[in-house]
Amino acid sequence: SQENLAEEALVSRRSRLLGAKSQLFYDEPVHLVRGEGVWLYDADGRKYLDAYNNVAHVGHCHPHVVEALCRQASLLNTHTRYLHTAILDYVERLTATFDASLSTAILSCTGSEANDIALRMAQAATGRMGIIATDATYHGNTAAVSQLSTRMPPVGGRARHVRLVPAPDSYRHPDAMATGKAFGDAVREAIASLEQDGIGLSGMILCPLLANEGFPALSSGFFGDALRAVREAGGLVIADEVQPGFGRTGSHFWGHQRAGFVPDIVTMGKPMGNGHPVAAVVTTREILATFRNAFRYFNTFGGNPVSSAVANAVLDVLEQEDLVANAFDVGAYAQGLLRPLADRHECIGEVRGAGLFFGAELVHDRKTREPAPDIAEQVANRMRHRGVLMGKTGIHGNVLKIRPPMPFSRDNAAFLIGMLDEVLDEVGGVPA
Ligand code: PMP
Repeated sequence: SQENLAEEALVSRRSRLLGAKSQLFYDEPVHLVRGEGVWLYDADGRKYLDAYNNVAHVGHCHPHVVEALCRQASLLNTHTRYLHTAILDYVERLTATFDASLSTAILSCTGSEANDIALRMAQAATGRMGIIATDATYHGNTAAVSQLSTRMPPVGGRARHVRLVPAPDSYRHPDAMATGKAFGDAVREAIASLEQDGIGLSGMILCPLLANEGFPALSSGFFGDALRAVREAGGLVIADEVQPGFGRTGSHFWGHQRAGFVPDIVTMGKPMGNGHPVAAVVTTREILATFRNAFRYFNTFGGNPVSSAVANAVLDVLEQEDLVANAFDVGAYAQGLLRPLADRHECIGEVRGAGLFFGAELVHDRKTREPAPDIAEQVANRMRHRGVLMGKTGIHGNVLKIRPPMPFSRDNAAFLIGMLDEVLDEVGGVPA
């Protein structure tokens, strides 16, 4: 058809200009031209329910955020070596949501950059290089941070100062989840190995929701043993809040608060600017001072007047529309609708998540728990064709990932789960 031809032309133009492997979602990529709230519209005017996008945190093109952006962009935008109140107002507001010890920040433009800074802070504070992460994570794309990601092995092999510990799997090893002892033991082993190699530990970085690891169901206090080991070895704890931050989990504003620990350094990005590139590293006064003494740090764009105005506006909307409470309510409601689907669809192994970050682990066989990434892929594609955008993630790539903008309503949730029920009917019996 005409539509398909136009789309194929765009795909090949994209490959030519951006490289053949530039990432695209879905077997038939979506060509979006407009967004509003939880809805997205393609070039043919077709409407999609966005159940994937944690970037448009308070809803696509939220008028309050757009207005703040336009107003500041038409007044002043410049680099960050001048006095300006917007960044100070923002950091005051932001740090007020943390434990009192976390009272200072550096603003950057991406989550990758924030994590890069966090690694250097831990190095500056400890005088050591060693860093621990899980073996199924993603923390970003700078040269230093990409060393922590397992999706693509680094050229020349993993750097000497990096140790990856097995990500917990709540579905296959539920007994290991009660105490977090196995995870703690793996961290202790990694620390010993770094010390043996004369590298020593600077810290451990982890997403408190283990989002990219497939958001396993963790007992409260799961991280306690591991983080105690890190601190006993003089290392710092870095919480990557790119995924759970800004109230996504509904019960808490930050994932580490939900997980019950206070980090030394916190990084955040994606939802912070509702699509505008702004990110941050929050830490203690002492760590920040050590970092600034060790490195002459400057960031041209990070926290510029426009970015700060946008970030402030996002906090306004979260407060004014009570979106964290909404995430709690709608997330619980949606999981309540999703859970009974497991009675009808053999491929659902486990339903889990928190607030507006939830999903289901799909398997070929509940007894062997053999992962079904192929079914997850088909589900995401079929949902796309029915006008719902969602994704998949996890250690085995078989976990349906539902992570909509925060104004997602109960009606939206019912619509999504109803559609998912139909799609699972279609794919559930299809052999691999
Ligand atoms: N940390 C985590 C946990 C992420 O999931 C991501 C991106 N998906 C990043 C960091 C990197 O953020 P950015 O793409 O803004 O650099």
